[in-house]
Amino acid sequence: MKIIAGNWKMNGTPEENIARLRGIKEAVKPTQNKIIVFPPFLSVPDAVSVLADSDIAIGAQNCYPRPDGAFTGEVSVTMLKGVGCAYCLVGHSERRQYFAESDDFLREKVIAVAEAGMIPVFCVGESEEQRENGSYRRVLAGQIKNVLSGLKLEKEEIYIAYEPVWAIGTGKTATPEDADETMGMIREILRDIGQPDDLYLLYGGSAKPANAEALLSRKNIDGLLIGGASLKPDDFAAMAAVQL
Ligand code: PEP
Repeated sequence: MKIIAGNWKMNGTPEENIARLRGIKEAVKPTQNKIIVFPPFLSVPDAVSVLADSDIAIGAQNCYPRPDGAFTGEVSVTMLKGVGCAYCLVGHSERRQYFAESDDFLREKVIAVAEAGMIPVFCVGESEEQRENGSYRRVLAGQIKNVLSGLKLEKEEIYIAYEPVWAIGTGKTATPEDADETMGMIREILRDIGQPDDLYLLYGGSAKPANAEALLSRKNIDGLLIGGASLKPDDFAAMAAVQL
């Protein structure tokens, strides 16, 4: 079983996304893999109704880590759970970069998502400069330790997405070897902080039909978090269909 997750980011009007959802429902064939789509908030209710009689699960791209209250403009974990989300992205690099989300805030989100009964998909990743100067190991260890240390994590209750920032939306993909090696290191970091080292690890960064199988064949890669290619139903379906 592999996990194939599509992050649509801020794309599509509600009408366009209904068509996209129908296209995905039609194109994705029955599989042992776990398939998840992360549409924009406004398309989540449509995703719930269009995908109601399918095995495709629905996640949110973001949340506010309180059940309710005076937080104008935010969407709570309780609302997401109530509408039918089973997953929520936390710490995507675009949120770290454009919305200055700190490790402390991400830790609150991971806890809130889990306490609401959803699975956080916690994203980590280094910049190109950090990859090149070799500090990426320390950067990843910091991101993981600051957010996950001391939490009681179980294998089925959280996924970690390794998304090197330099590979997101750039067309540059980490080689399967490099991604696997770095994700093996993430397992060591988890061990170091006393967390299970067999958590599901997803790779993200310009994954596409042409490289999906090579990435998914690697020992430490349990799934893919797919941005651009997940917007095209046929491409997403081709990746969902990889059998290993
Ligand atoms: C992402 O945004 O999570 C992502 C991996 O994007 P892309 O596949 O477009 O690089």
